[in-house]
Amino acid sequence: MKPELIHQIDPLRAAVAGRRARGLTIGLVPTMGALHAGHGRLIELARRECGAVVVSIFVNPIQFNQAEDFERYPRTLQADLDYCGRLGVDLVFAPDEREMYPGPLRTFVNIEHLTDHLCGAFRPGHFRGVATVVTKLFMIVQPDRAYFGRKDAQQLAVIRRMVADLNIPVEIVAVPTVREPDGLALSSRNARLSAEEREAATVLYRGLEAARQAWARGLRDADQLKQIAREIFATRSEVRIEYLEVVDAEMQPVAMVSGPALLAVAAWVGTTRLIDNMPLEP
Ligand code: AMP
Repeated sequence: MKPELIHQIDPLRAAVAGRRARGLTIGLVPTMGALHAGHGRLIELARRECGAVVVSIFVNPIQFNQAEDFERYPRTLQADLDYCGRLGVDLVFAPDEREMYPGPLRTFVNIEHLTDHLCGAFRPGHFRGVATVVTKLFMIVQPDRAYFGRKDAQQLAVIRRMVADLNIPVEIVAVPTVREPDGLALSSRNARLSAEEREAATVLYRGLEAARQAWARGLRDADQLKQIAREIFATRSEVRIEYLEVVDAEMQPVAMVSGPALLAVAAWVGTTRLIDNMPLEP
């Protein structure tokens, strides 16, 4: 069955309120569309855990720090609707820019410290845009639970912290990264890769996994772990590393791994920027 497609805030609120009045719990899966099996995993979990599932599809301009990246971002609403229908989504909320930002925005949500490194350092304003739009979506939908992928690990950490710091009554559910059979993390941006770039991009997973294995064998020195990954990345000249870091749960770089940590990478493959990460935890 096709989900109900709603473009405006008021009717979306009414549709959600009707379901809540029937005693259903509400699950929200925020996305930028061009849905793939990674998003699918979030939706399936929401479907199992909630009485009604809302998927938002909004390519959020204020989280893009490059106009070209925003313009080139894939937009596939009809296919997304079909996919949501197959997964039993109840409501798809697909507002346009004017609905979300009717005038100049003067209020932003800023998460400090957790955004100092990784993507926060290389994409100025990105997490401010993410946190602001997610807060708006939380206020519009008022979900019981919201689902986020571990593929965007810093984003997940930022949202969790925001919800804790601001007492936002939404349970955040984290979902493991879904990968292609050769290890490449699914991403809407993968569609932009040429066949050669697509093949080269597999070094990201292979490098991270090799370092994770060294960690599992007892290696704790961050520089040495990074060196193992770097050697594998370097086998493909198409891949240019933007950052490679070992960070703790607060997204701060560490020299030695002594607790839950994350090995995180961002890389340019041709003109496409990809991110991936590997948890270093038992
Ligand atoms: P996006 O549409 O890229 O903003 O992603 C929407 C949500 O899907 C975010 O919470 C992402 O972390 C999650 N997501 C994207 N790709 C994957 C993946 N390969 N595995 C798991 N979650 C993902």
